[in-house]
Amino acid sequence: MARIVQKYGGTSVGDVDRIKNVAARIKAVREAGNELVVVVSARAGVTNELIARAKAVCENPSEREMDQLLAIGEQETIALTAMALHGIGVEAMSYTGAQAGIFTDQVHTKAKIKMIHAHALEKDLRAGKVIIVAGFQGMGPDGQTTTLGRGGSDLTAIALAAAIKADKCEIYTDVDGVYTADPRVVKDARKLSEISYDEMLELASLGSKVMQSRSVEFAAKYNVVFEVRSSFNTNPGTIVKQEVAYMEKVVVRGVAVDKDQAKIVISNIVDKPGSAAKVFKGLANAHINVDMIVQNVGRQGIANLTFTVPQTESAKAIKALGPILKETGGDVTVDEKIAKLSVVGVGMRTHSGVAATLFQALADAGINLELISTSEIKISVVIQTDRADEAARLAHKAFDLDKL
Ligand code: ADP
Ligand code: ASP
Ligand code: MG
Repeated sequence: MARIVQKYGGTSVGDVDRIKNVAARIKAVREAGNELVVVVSARAGVTNELIARAKAVCENPSEREMDQLLAIGEQETIALTAMALHGIGVEAMSYTGAQAGIFTDQVHTKAKIKMIHAHALEKDLRAGKVIIVAGFQGMGPDGQTTTLGRGGSDLTAIALAAAIKADKCEIYTDVDGVYTADPRVVKDARKLSEISYDEMLELASLGSKVMQSRSVEFAAKYNVVFEVRSSFNTNPGTIVKQEVAYMEKVVVRGVAVDKDQAKIVISNIVDKPGSAAKVFKGLANAHINVDMIVQNVGRQGIANLTFTVPQTESAKAIKALGPILKETGGDVTVDEKIAKLSVVGVGMRTHSGVAATLFQALADAGINLELISTSEIKISVVIQTDRADEAARLAHKAFDLDKL
């Protein structure tokens, strides 16, 4: 007998038939004698639909009310999944995030899990019930409903697996596992049998939405080994775990594309100590996430400063920059038609020439690199968004990822 946490994503519980399919899979695992906690997402599209409705009634909805609203999506699927299980003779009980004892901080729409008091849940689990938990939601210090950021059901599953010391954590989605690139974009992408936390974290933060990046961070911190698999077949998936020595033999593990970024250029800013500090302090005070900063060599006392921000935050960034640029000088322009393309692999620590191979592959196709940034295990470039999918395919081929 094992204690298993499973998570089913939005497509896997997308309609009544799919919920019944999930229930049948759960029944088989339960009848094999396992203890089972199941985290479910909202039906695919529901969270987006709720966000659109919020924006239709109010231009700038309060984040507290947003959480009240968004938590509904998962509350529908927990109850339906429990009912589907009852319908096939399996004892099951649904739990909201708060009922499951998931306590978070008070940062609405992107709350962090602080602790999990799983006693009630564990009592029912030991009594033989299948526990169905609403993903993506928790309870703030004052009893408020909070949500954990988009894709947050992954985090609920991984945090619960750590809290109840599960033997296994399985993330069921609509693809067979983690691939060398998004299989919808790169047709010859290959499924990886395993990947390290560090690589998965980079891929997730750089745009591979198969896992929420915060959930991977959490898994690495608490050493929760998990497997990404498909809810539509029984193929083995991808194991995400601590790095082991042989992983460094592969130079590039995967390619990621993020089309939700914007490039901001401040031209003719005064080139003296303190200018950049003022700009980025202003952006930090407005809680804007800045990435890929480049400043050119100043000439005649002026310079250009370029950086990227999430597209959803670009308007807020421009607003925050207004008063600062009055002090530092400079004109600001925004380009939302850009994408960030990245290649990731722990093998980059010990192999050279990765940047040259990537740049050459893109150059041969006439794709212009607007910004470049590197870290120990990744290289990212900013390019025009209409070339992004093609660039992903070229990078994938340049590193022979189709031949793994
Ligand atoms: P869920 O609703 O189950 O959480 P998501 O839509 O959040 O599923 O994530 C699964 C999707 O992630 C896949 O359908 C796939 O298109 C996309 N994806 C992006 N990059 C990758 C990758 N490297 N490997 C697998 N899937 C990826
Ligand atoms: N329903 C939430 C979202 O769409 C959480 C999730 O699916 O993981 O972001
Ligand atoms: Mg997801």
